[in-house]
Amino acid sequence: MAASNKTTAVYRLIMVGSGGVGKSALTLQYMYDEFVVDYEPTKADSYRKAVMLDGEEVQIDILDTAGQENYAAIRDTYIRSGEGFLLVFDVTDAESFQDLNELYEQILRVKNGGTNIPAILVGNKIDLAERRKVPLEEAEQKARSWSIRYIETSAKTKHNVDKVFCELMRIVRPFKNPVRETGPTTTSGRQTKPIKSGKHKKCIIL
Ligand code: GDP
Ligand code: MG
Repeated sequence: MAASNKTTAVYRLIMVGSGGVGKSALTLQYMYDEFVVDYEPTKADSYRKAVMLDGEEVQIDILDTAGQENYAAIRDTYIRSGEGFLLVFDVTDAESFQDLNELYEQILRVKNGGTNIPAILVGNKIDLAERRKVPLEEAEQKARSWSIRYIETSAKTKHNVDKVFCELMRIVRPFKNPVRETGPTTTSGRQTKPIKSGKHKKCIIL
């Protein structure tokens, strides 16, 4: 362990989306490099790991939610604890795409930080592209209307899996370190672009 009196930043990220979209599969693929086909659908769990994010050691904390959060009060509690959200749908399931509207509205309401929330819209199961029901343009359009990014993933092939978690931490980072912001305040929850330059731009699990 490095001798340091500085506490490690913890990034609290939350997997959101209807049942079966691949929230657990994405989480487990990121954490353990494994594609899990039959993860218990009602099991919610949280995971923590040390990550080197652009030259800084941080902890990623992922809350993989499951069905029980249908109770709005429970959802409010975990939403409040979250700093960043992966809004996941299944590209082969149009209903899962629609379901995100309500979840997004709820996050906005709980965070009541204006219109910007640190989040990424994630279209998962892109390996099943031949069964796609949600056109790319529609997903991009929704992401634009929410002022967030859209990224397509496959928990099966690991396509873009590391990327969504790393990019979400980069989106959350300015909210954690307001001193990095150029503006006078960050309470407006302004969305900032991920840092593009810099020779330490790397994001790896330690
Ligand atoms: P959750 O309810 O959102 O946690 O969904 P799960 O992670 O349990 O996934 C539901 C089902 O979809 C499981 O059978 C997974 O193996 C499968 N699945 C998840 N992600 C992918 C993916 O990217 N591609 C394919 N082909 N199947 C996936
Ligand atoms: Mg699950």
